Amino acid sequence: MRVDILTLFPEMVTPYLQGSLLGKAVRDGRLDIEVTNIRDFATDRHRTTDDSPFGGGPGMVMKCEPIFAAVESLRGRNSLERVLLMSPRGRKLDQRLVRELAAQRDMVLLCARYEGVDERVSQTLVTDEVSIGDYVLSGGELPALVLVEAVSRMIPGVVGDWESVTTDSFFNVILGPPQYTRPAEFRGMAVPPVLREGNHAAIARWRRKEALRATRSRRPELLTDLSKEDLKLLAEIEREDAESLGPDREITP
Ligand code: SAH
Repeated sequence: MRVDILTLFPEMVTPYLQGSLLGKAVRDGRLDIEVTNIRDFATDRHRTTDDSPFGGGPGMVMKCEPIFAAVESLRGRNSLERVLLMSPRGRKLDQRLVRELAAQRDMVLLCARYEGVDERVSQTLVTDEVSIGDYVLSGGELPALVLVEAVSRMIPGVVGDWESVTTDSFFNVILGPPQYTRPAEFRGMAVPPVLREGNHAAIARWRRKEALRATRSRRPELLTDLSKEDLKLLAEIEREDAESLGPDREITP
């Protein structure tokens, strides 16, 4: 997959792309990422990329000309089918959008700064606006990196062990199960015995059940489209909860 990242601050983006799994994906040729400095496409003497807003008000707005020129310069290297603007006004990034984007052969990620971009960029150049959550950052660089990292995990070979991807939270809609590592006992807290007994079917069942338990208590809205086996596990969880409360115990806040 090819990804073009357009930013005024390439030095904020580039180092992150060189580390760990992303760096390896790039070196292995699974990901081809090019970072372009929007300022290189400003044509005036001061290489201006922003200007004050029409109508007045605080802050600066990123100008049309350098952004259009920067995106258009990618023709031939990028299909420009998906030009994504990082924006708090966009569609909220989730695993479903991540998978959809992972099926693309290429995409452009446009990182804004200041008060954002001139609306005409959003209207004509941009195909999607993507938000990473309902809060405001100072620039689109972190959101672009978040998006690239999430999408890269869906490309086979980027994460060495595909099974670790398929058991992550959200891969199968629900949250992931709890995990433990050595020592088997720490400060009086023991690891659930089933995980140490080597019965793989029992371990898989325990993990699914605990994933359902976590989802039920933290993100119940994700519990849709459940299999018969999941419903059985949830019924067990509900029984266990009822028992642990006891028949006469009142629930006190
Ligand atoms: N005035 C804008 C916010 C500008 S913040 C507004 O009210 O919507 C500057 C830039 O940071 C944005 O243009 C966007 O590129 C990026 N950004 C900030 N928060 C973001 C978020 N939650 N998701 C994606 N991009 C974000």
